[in-house]
Amino acid sequence: MARDVLELARRIRDARSVVALTGAGISVPSGIPDFRSPGTGLWANVDPMEVAHIDAWRADPERFWSFYGERFVGLREKAPNSAHDVLVELERRGRLDGVITQNIDTLHRRAGSQVVVEVHGTIEHSSCLVDGEAHDLDEVLERIGAADDGVPRCDAGHPLKPDVVLFGEMLPEDALQRAYDLASRADVLLCVGSSLEVHPVAQLPGVTQANGGVVALVTSGPTPWDGRAAHRLDGDVVEELEGLLAALDGLDAP
Ligand SMILES: [Zn+2]
Repeated sequence: MARDVLELARRIRDARSVVALTGAGISVPSGIPDFRSPGTGLWANVDPMEVAHIDAWRADPERFWSFYGERFVGLREKAPNSAHDVLVELERRGRLDGVITQNIDTLHRRAGSQVVVEVHGTIEHSSCLVDGEAHDLDEVLERIGAADDGVPRCDAGHPLKPDVVLFGEMLPEDALQRAYDLASRADVLLCVGSSLEVHPVAQLPGVTQANGGVVALVTSGPTPWDGRAAHRLDGDVVEELEGLLAALDGLDAP
């Protein structure tokens, strides 16, 4: 497996299609902890199956929203970091066809990425499951503040559900299809800050490889693909991506 950033840069330069697949690790430099890191993450003090399950939203929306409302306010305060910016720049140069992300934090869009597939949904809006009425995050937070019980509701009075995928829910089918399409066409699947253990992203490197593409890992933690990836950069995600961009600049220089 090649560790050299220059080799990966050459591979990207020569590829017809490069697609990024990102996980929690790309948002850590923005101050959003990876919930998989023991003791430090979001779920350190709560049982996710208890608060982040669709049944919890149905059974006790007040408790559900008291947790999520605060979390969404916290996420809205975070800003994209230089790792997000590198992916924006690669797309701007025509070197990246899209970003598939597990993250619900909207940071890829806010950084400026144009093609973003959010396979676990997004905090950007919340919807009524009865009539489909949707509201963006600012409006949802306003409705939380205006409600006696802290539950945001549609105009007809039904509790809203954030458009993030909760435990016990199906993944969004259109996002899933777009993710598979991108992964199957990719010559290089650039996996950034993901442990590649959670469905559906766990399947995507296999989709790329089965269609003749290669998998590149830019992550400091272990993944099931450590033995099968063509490239691996395992340092800090910001430094590695900035190094990759610099290496591409070097190749392009006359
Ligand atoms: Zn409604």
